[in-house]
Amino acid sequence: MLPRDGMRLFLYDSASRGIVPFEPADPERVSIYTCGPTVYRYAHIGNLRTFLLTDLLVRTLRFLGYGTFVVQNITDMGHMHQEQLEEGEDKVIAAARAAGKSAREIAAFFTEAYFRDCRRMAFLPADAYPRASEHVPEMISLVRALEERGAVYGGGGYLYFDVSKVPGYGALSGIALGEGTPAERTDPGGHRHKRRPEDFVLWMPAEPGREFQWDSPWGRGWPGWHSECAAMAIRHLGPEFDLHVGGIDLRFPHHENSRALATAATGKRFAAHWLHAAHLLVNGKKMSKSAGNEYTLDVLEAGPPGGGKGFSAVDFRYYCLTLQYATPMNFTWEGQEAAARARYRLRAAFRRAALEATSGEDAAAALRAEFRGAISDDLNMPRGLAVVHKAIRSGIGGDAARALAAEWDAVLGVGLLSEADGDGGANGVREGGEAEIPVEVASMARERESRRRAGDYPAADALREKIRAAGYDVVDAAEGKAVLRKRRETRRR
Ligand SMILES: [Zn+2]
Repeated sequence: MLPRDGMRLFLYDSASRGIVPFEPADPERVSIYTCGPTVYRYAHIGNLRTFLLTDLLVRTLRFLGYGTFVVQNITDMGHMHQEQLEEGEDKVIAAARAAGKSAREIAAFFTEAYFRDCRRMAFLPADAYPRASEHVPEMISLVRALEERGAVYGGGGYLYFDVSKVPGYGALSGIALGEGTPAERTDPGGHRHKRRPEDFVLWMPAEPGREFQWDSPWGRGWPGWHSECAAMAIRHLGPEFDLHVGGIDLRFPHHENSRALATAATGKRFAAHWLHAAHLLVNGKKMSKSAGNEYTLDVLEAGPPGGGKGFSAVDFRYYCLTLQYATPMNFTWEGQEAAARARYRLRAAFRRAALEATSGEDAAAALRAEFRGAISDDLNMPRGLAVVHKAIRSGIGGDAARALAAEWDAVLGVGLLSEADGDGGANGVREGGEAEIPVEVASMARERESRRRAGDYPAADALREKIRAAGYDVVDAAEGKAVLRKRRETRRR
């Protein structure tokens, strides 16, 4: 099977440093590995923007007619140092420990929180979510293969990878040997036995009380972070696969090192193509717990600190789409507000256009080609969105509008034709696009809801009439939720 219309996808490749035509080994099963969350805290919006890259990639590939197989790991032990847990550097972990929760329970809790965030962000699920803690035998075999090839050395219970044994080490990230001073996050024992800064730990002894630990040919302990991802990628995708995705901060040392040890162990190429998402700042600053600016989806839903309306995860998704993935993003509340408004207007325009008589079918073909061209050009979603806005201005209507919205939303995932989204609002009144619903209408709806719950039906009905007069319908939806909808305008002749 070839992509529909023979449209080729062009993607920037971090390894070759250029935009290249994407050529998977098997177009029916494009194999993708993406570095997943570390599950001892909630994902922040910078993490979610990175994970969005994989979602946009997969949606684009499917749109172009490819089949996909996506593996996203769950790092459930890699960075979880016992001493970190005991110091209680993370408040949530400290609370969980105080309540007698184990490291495994904490990981399970945050894994579920992550999946919930994925659903809110409208991410398509991966085909496999391997847990690092369930792949230790694979990591041990990988390290044994390196040992057989004479690429390891050790001391004091630590086993290190000798990067000088890999020709071309540094090619992915562009570092030269001797230049790097990698922050070795999984090396609590220091670097006493290391021969050069770039060498990294493959296996280390377990500190007293560490919950995640295993027997190995090198003693009881646990594996280094880089061997985790390499082992899981090889186990689920084989020694060669099409695409490796992650945040730009992972390019060095994590991806450089995963690639080095995988190629050294298997003699194969590992990932053919590397894709990295740019970072996200909040008000021009890097997010950190200490600065108190680690924004999560819950923070977005609660709204700006000084008060004001909150935003749904899909509003944030739309905000991200206004920038290409390789452009650094600076999140501001004003920017989020503007993006939410733009999304609301776009959805409202499509819903109106869909109710009109079919028109603009001739323009649709050109718009289709333009959208396809935009997303095939290194996933250029801002240009894709511009085409969507242009379609509305060009006067498409009826079936033509519905067909385009459905087609494009399969890539964008911003609810172009959906009636409402987001979690339930106050008092169970869910307001699709609350941003544009007049405050007095929303407040009448809440009042009506509380009257209805109190059994005061005459008052509730009177309020429904007032809401109708203001141009809105209250629809009692499932689960006792009421939804506000703008009343459909009379069709134009
Ligand atoms: Zn990884």
